[in-house]
Amino acid sequence: MSEVPASHPRYASLKLREAIAAGVEKGITSAHGLIAHGRGEAFDYLIGETSQPFAREALRAGAALLLMAGYPVISVNGNAAALVPAELAALGQLLPAPLEVNIFHASPQREQAIRSELLVHGAQTVLMPTDQAQLPFIESNRRFVHPEGLFRADVVFVPLEDGDRCEALRRMGKEVVTVDLNPLSRTARAASVTVVDNLARTMPLLLEAVEQLRQEPAEVWQQLISTYDNDAVLRAAEARIRSGA
Ligand code: ATP
Repeated sequence: MSEVPASHPRYASLKLREAIAAGVEKGITSAHGLIAHGRGEAFDYLIGETSQPFAREALRAGAALLLMAGYPVISVNGNAAALVPAELAALGQLLPAPLEVNIFHASPQREQAIRSELLVHGAQTVLMPTDQAQLPFIESNRRFVHPEGLFRADVVFVPLEDGDRCEALRRMGKEVVTVDLNPLSRTARAASVTVVDNLARTMPLLLEAVEQLRQEPAEVWQQLISTYDNDAVLRAAEARIRSGA
């Protein structure tokens, strides 16, 4: 990274900030994405900038849900594509699951730029929004989906989601696995499984959990899912923030 030495105490955080800024320059991330990232940074600071036990517990349940799925789909926005394109592509191959570009602020150029970035990083199938299928209950650009992607999915992995769409996906009967540093957000509260952690730290851990759990029988996945309590995980994350420990 440019001028910041690896020994700098905020190196990891600054590196992510550079990745997001580079995403804007490449036409992948929107200017609004910078603000969303800033909000994430603030919460990351408060949870200690490490993957806490509540995040690790959630990501194992999330991995189990994705493995149990009949038709999992990975939804990608401009921030996720800037931060972890290779890891999202790897998750798509591992499950396997198609990736689908889905952004809040309509822009065909940005959608294409996200698709290209994912393909360059090894993604096999990257679906695009269409006007042939729409998610009910939402009015933003995010309602336009692919009939063989988000529309059909039974389990959706949607990092950095917006609350409206997360609620809409749940109302359609889909399971939603999300990654959101804010345990108070509507997304965090509406999702089936919320990993309260930085997406950049979560993705390698999630890939590891999927690799490990897929060696296990389906009963183990089922057990992880049936004993999982998302409200308890969110309470633990909030307690960590409030205690400042
Ligand atoms: P909601 O509609 O769910 O209440 P919001 O409007 O607060 O969400 P948005 O602006 O849509 O949030 O999205 C930003 C969210 O993504 C914030 O909750 C922020 O904490 C989170 N976030 C940003 N960057 C990251 C990251 N790298 N890893 C995990 N979460 C992040």
